[in-house]
Amino acid sequence: MRALDRDLIRCRRCPRLVAWREEVARTKRAAFADETYWGRPVPGFGPPDAALLIVGLAPAAHGGNRTGRMFTGDRSGDVLYQALYDIGLASQPTATAVDDGLALHGVRVTAPVHCAPPANKPTPRERDDCRPWLVQELRLLAPTLRAAVVLGAFGWQAALPAFAAAGWEVPRPRPAFGHGARTTLRGGAGALDLFGCFHVSQRNTFTGRLTPAMLREILREAATAAGLRPVAPQTQEQTQELAQELTRQTAQKGRKE
Ligand code: SF4
Repeated sequence: MRALDRDLIRCRRCPRLVAWREEVARTKRAAFADETYWGRPVPGFGPPDAALLIVGLAPAAHGGNRTGRMFTGDRSGDVLYQALYDIGLASQPTATAVDDGLALHGVRVTAPVHCAPPANKPTPRERDDCRPWLVQELRLLAPTLRAAVVLGAFGWQAALPAFAAAGWEVPRPRPAFGHGARTTLRGGAGALDLFGCFHVSQRNTFTGRLTPAMLREILREAATAAGLRPVAPQTQEQTQELAQELTRQTAQKGRKE
């Protein structure tokens, strides 16, 4: 996975996205004027032997494109990582920078388009041109991957062909996207349960179209399908204890490897 990430961050296949990600990195948002933006493709984040994959859309111009990590430094990430923390799959509820100490337990987060697009809207051509990166990531994850949550219709349309190219059988006609949609893809190294969920965009979370409870419910269902052991939302103290324990276990596992 590291070799894949090393190659990915050098990719310049999409001229429009390369120009945009670099221009944003040069001009910056006033609030981040003293920071050095990443300004390159953003790799997936999480263990390379994850059982659950979360597939978003693309990095945000001043989020992932600034910090260099998926869903890090923006409001969408605040919502996503809080939900993962609430069910015991993230070590902390916040994601602010690559060195903030956040660790995910059995979960990896990625996107079908790895560069920030203008107005958060990649073109179909850019989506298709970026697909080989997701296909390679899926192939590397295949031995352990048992469930995936796709955030939003764009990600759903982009992810299905990638799962097919990586060895899973996608039913025909293709399953439609919807919040709570669930389908099983056979083949690959094992069956995979695929879940649809509204995107954690500000538009969805500010309007209440996607509430924290709705997001937790889908993530918990998907984590259970993946063989992970999500927890019910607990008191803040209990959640912190659980996160510390999971972090200890992850560190021990890393030492053994
Ligand atoms: S969006 Fe994907 S294919 Fe296009 S330049 Fe970025 S990493 Fe490369």
